[in-house]
Amino acid sequence: MRLAGGRNLFNRDPSKSVIQKNLSLVAYLPNKRTIIEWSYNMFSHNQQTISDLRDDLDQTRQVVISLMSQEIREILRSYTRCESRRDADCWRYDVVGEIIQRAEILPEEISHFSERAYCPLCGEGSSWQDDHGFSIPEGLRRHLLGNRCSIFRVALVLARQTWNKNFHAKEEGEARAAHTQKVKRKKSETLYRTTRCGPAELIDEGIGAATARKGCDLPWAENRLLHLGFEIVNDGKVKSYIYELDDLIVYADPRVEGEIKFAVYLKPASNRSRNGLRQASTVSWKSFHEYSQLQSTTGSTSRIPAARSGS
Ligand SMILES: [Zn+2]
Repeated sequence: MRLAGGRNLFNRDPSKSVIQKNLSLVAYLPNKRTIIEWSYNMFSHNQQTISDLRDDLDQTRQVVISLMSQEIREILRSYTRCESRRDADCWRYDVVGEIIQRAEILPEEISHFSERAYCPLCGEGSSWQDDHGFSIPEGLRRHLLGNRCSIFRVALVLARQTWNKNFHAKEEGEARAAHTQKVKRKKSETLYRTTRCGPAELIDEGIGAATARKGCDLPWAENRLLHLGFEIVNDGKVKSYIYELDDLIVYADPRVEGEIKFAVYLKPASNRSRNGLRQASTVSWKSFHEYSQLQSTTGSTSRIPAARSGS
């Protein structure tokens, strides 16, 4: 077989063909174990490099803060005195207030309409060409809290690193305790299945920041659902509020104070889903009430208008 230039694939060299030469190179290729060792060493080296760079960056951040005046330094490093996440949430607003108090107000001939000052941390002022400094307090507050001050950003990073280190173990312990408590409650308390396929939940589970309905208030909500034609289904300690129509099945969720939510599912006709039902939408109490009244008076099977929440 001839190659370009008249080379012979099998016998270009009088002593060895191209294939023979390539086969001899295979003998020098690293074996699988060598490749794994090489990859591991590269990975370890890269990890060490990243760790060193992080240390350098942290030291640089500390240096940046140490270049401030002693008074500003102490203010910026006060994050070490935060004892909880709540303290930490308030910290930056308190610190910004103290920094604004220490801003040097520019002379009146410069600040015509309101007091103005340059940032006591980074020395920057407004980006407008004819303006000097920031308006006090709002302009400087926006500069600091709006993530535009390079020095304050550095202080925030150091603060967050310290808080994460200090609070992490405590937060993990609290999360574990909360999980244990939830498991314990699920074994003894009534659970509510409020959707077709979702898990049965505690009265205050999965409702976000909303307030769970009090035990004495729940019978009132259940009576309203019974009045609308819902059936209260008890399966052991799992309770569901279900209303079936010709082409729909509705699950009610009365657990949140001041509202009752509905999950509406279409019963399959030709368009069957894997679960046999397909969720249509969440509807408000008002929408559902109007629909159920329409059903009872006309026997209509028109769809319930969708809405996100209701009471
Ligand atoms: Zn600044």
